[in-house]
Amino acid sequence: MKVIHLQLFEQASDLLFRCQLYLEKGESFWLSDQLTLRRIVSQDQEIAFEAGPSEPMLFRSAARKITPRIVQAGEIEIEYQGQPAGWGNVNRSDLLALNAYSVYYPQPKTLSLVQFPLTYQGRPGQVMLEGQWDEAQNTWLSSGLAGDPGNVVIYKPESKLTQENPAAQFVYFNPDETEIISRMVEEVEQILMEYQTAYGVRKLPQRKMISLDIPDYRNAGAFQRGEWTFYTRILPEDCSQIQKHADRMIGLMAHELGHLWFTGADVSSWEDWLNETGAEWTCLRYLMKHGPTWLLKQKLNTLVSTYAPLRPIRTPEGKNDAKSIHQKGTALFLKLAFDHGMTVVDQILSLLANLTVKSTAALLEAIRRELSPELAAEIEKFLDQADFGLSREDPILKEWIEAVSQASAE
Ligand SMILES: [Zn+2]
Repeated sequence: MKVIHLQLFEQASDLLFRCQLYLEKGESFWLSDQLTLRRIVSQDQEIAFEAGPSEPMLFRSAARKITPRIVQAGEIEIEYQGQPAGWGNVNRSDLLALNAYSVYYPQPKTLSLVQFPLTYQGRPGQVMLEGQWDEAQNTWLSSGLAGDPGNVVIYKPESKLTQENPAAQFVYFNPDETEIISRMVEEVEQILMEYQTAYGVRKLPQRKMISLDIPDYRNAGAFQRGEWTFYTRILPEDCSQIQKHADRMIGLMAHELGHLWFTGADVSSWEDWLNETGAEWTCLRYLMKHGPTWLLKQKLNTLVSTYAPLRPIRTPEGKNDAKSIHQKGTALFLKLAFDHGMTVVDQILSLLANLTVKSTAALLEAIRRELSPELAAEIEKFLDQADFGLSREDPILKEWIEAVSQASAE
């Protein structure tokens, strides 16, 4: 399947979607349950379709498998409506934000973000990030944030507040957050200094990390795409929890900025574990030194209690398993820290950061050469293993978390 064009229309408080799609005969797509499918059209003819049961998906919402009954491969048009909730989807008169991860356009079962043009009818006089206003058509034209068409942000220019430094720009819409955002700007500088000391000096991104602080009462999230282009979307949980929210933002920034050093491994395969483990481990190391300790403890506890049932890092079919690449490698590094000490893991990270071509084979080769062949063999074995024997009740973990809390209290 191939998405050719997504058009959005605003109607009262609802959004109408019209998506042109190329589909093979018998091919299906998934559409979020938060959206209502109105009709499918092919060459001006309405066509029948089958809708499967609601399935909890890889995406952030449940979705339904839709199979249009087409007689041959070709272009179809799908009309649907609704307002995806959560995950940074905001629809107010001064701010519209739509986030790909809630899937408001047809998707194959495996979430794949592909470029396609998007047009949004309405909101003249506002500002669309990464979009252009077409006067003649009275429409926004966009390929989405950082080339990801599944992310759209339009806002009234007068409601936008900004604070920035050479590495990051924070865009927010609530003046009460000014102080907290100042803390973020300082924290970015500290994170970068820390990483440069540990993993070597890097050129700052050609484009700043852009953080959009958008009200959302359920979730927080971040994404990055492309070389040296980083966008972070960070969402407060609820206004009474602003301090906790700021702490979480630090965790997200520490991870996303880690990608300046940990990027370049193939993101379409299991090799993506190198990018994600690198970024997450740098984040954990930062939290160990600077806190917030509660976040570090929460991350470690969650990691240890959730990693084992996930698929091994090296999936048998070689595909990128989104859950595994984010958790399994970090659990592996934690296991190595327990068995060999933190310094060894720091050395591995440094080798990884400085590989010119990032692949697991190249990393293992560097470990064999610079550290030890036994260590490389041990890591290789763990790549295909699900359970590393880490447990929440493990006295080593308990002791270690205790030590971490004491160190950061000093
Ligand atoms: Zn990441």
